[in-house]
Amino acid sequence: MPRTRRRPDGLAHVRKGVTDIDFSHSPTSTEYLRRVSDFMDTHILPRNALWHAEVAAGNFPVSFMADLKALAKCEGLWNLFLPDLPDDAPGQGLGTLDYAPLAEVMGRIPWASEVFNCSAPDTGNMELLHMFATQRQRQDWLMPLLEGEIRSAFAMSEPDVPSSDATNIETSIRKDGNGYVISGRKWFITNAAHPDCRLLIVMGKTDTDAPRHLQQSMVLVPIDTPGVEIKRNIPVLNHHTPEGHCEILFRNVKVPADNLLGAEGDGFRMAQARLGPGRIHHCMRSIGQAELALELMCDRTRERKTFGSFLSERANVGDWIARSRLEIEQARLLVLKTAWMIDTVGADGARQEIAMIKALVPSMLCRVADRAMQTFGAMGLSPDTPLAEIYTFARALRFADGPDEVHLRALARGETKASAERSGASARYLTPSTAG
Ligand SMILES: Cc1cc2nc3c(=O)[nH]c(=O)nc-3n(C[C@H](O)[C@H](O)[C@H](O)COP(=O)(O)OP(=O)(O)OC[C@H]3O[C@@H](n4cnc5c(N)ncnc54)[C@H](O)[C@@H]3O)c2cc1C
Repeated sequence: MPRTRRRPDGLAHVRKGVTDIDFSHSPTSTEYLRRVSDFMDTHILPRNALWHAEVAAGNFPVSFMADLKALAKCEGLWNLFLPDLPDDAPGQGLGTLDYAPLAEVMGRIPWASEVFNCSAPDTGNMELLHMFATQRQRQDWLMPLLEGEIRSAFAMSEPDVPSSDATNIETSIRKDGNGYVISGRKWFITNAAHPDCRLLIVMGKTDTDAPRHLQQSMVLVPIDTPGVEIKRNIPVLNHHTPEGHCEILFRNVKVPADNLLGAEGDGFRMAQARLGPGRIHHCMRSIGQAELALELMCDRTRERKTFGSFLSERANVGDWIARSRLEIEQARLLVLKTAWMIDTVGADGARQEIAMIKALVPSMLCRVADRAMQTFGAMGLSPDTPLAEIYTFARALRFADGPDEVHLRALARGETKASAERSGASARYLTPSTAG
């Protein structure tokens, strides 16, 4: 059933009365939440230990991944993240707000999203191709991604330049006859070590003389193109992921001219478009991980007794639990508001909210995971709980898709601009002393 969308009309809810605010999930979202939760309980959670055992034994993708993907696809729990899923693609694209609680449930197990074809960075790459690919690029790359036949990576960051400012990127994309030649070095490229990764979307510069934000372009590079060399899979906080965060060398890599995505000079604009939905998906999954960390913390503190009292009876532990609940609820509400904004005014109109959640949620998850680890004692740092992995992911997310400070800066700029537009109206509230 389609959900009625309301415009983000500032104080409209105050004017109409608070009963106008509806915090419930739509019937569609509720139904999918039940189905995704059942699938997680029946098929994914019981295989979690096996997933870790197989990966530790060097078996990746794990033996049951293809079967689980086929089952999820068959049940229509597929491509849930893409609101305007093409008619000829499998699955069910939902609105951003409807997808949020599902991503939260999937986020509780790091490898679960892939089962539903909803995992990063493929989701962002599919959105990008969906928006900008030519008909042929859609056939060659978007459809196999939507079918879950291949995986992909997005290659922007470079070791030699500060990559939080995308205009610094130096990889060269040079026109050569009827093709392009790519030269440069990228790093932390997520998914590039995945055996099914076939496509690299590479950002580089086509025109260093153009205005600063028009120098960049994106090209589609099959990962097996001669000259593409995966140098290493970089561990994050010494944590090794099988899909990888890779350093990649591009040595005179040649691709045909029609591998250009969008137009020359559109790279920066397209990167911005890609990051909006991708960022909110990370935040939705993070809320699920924070919930899991809090559940683990509460259960542990009820079982563990030191110096005659359960940990749950200690005031400081109670504060950790209460603060975690407060912070999770605040973060979730802001994520849901942002999802609603994306659905109603688009990712561009929700730019400030996207910056807010990206600056807020990873730090929130770091804090909650850190408190949970503390309550577990040494075990909290071991691989016997998911907490160390959750913390590592959260800490990395304070950089991935842009460091906290860049989002805070964007927010501060927005506030300052709004202040300038108000022309100092707040001065009416000052009460300067007339004494003396
Ligand atoms: C696990 C992981 C996965 C990643 N996956 C990918 C991927 O798939 N593809 C990809 O292209 N990249 C990926 N990245 C890279 C990530 O996008 C970059 O690390 C990030 O953009 C920051 O760039 P940088 O590391 O070069 O830091 P720099 O640009 O050198 O910045 C260093 C620090 O400077 C500070 N800083 C920067 N700008 C400002 C500012 N305006 N105000 C105040 N302080 C500031 C911040 O604290 C920042 O952390 C990944 C990173 C990690 C950790």
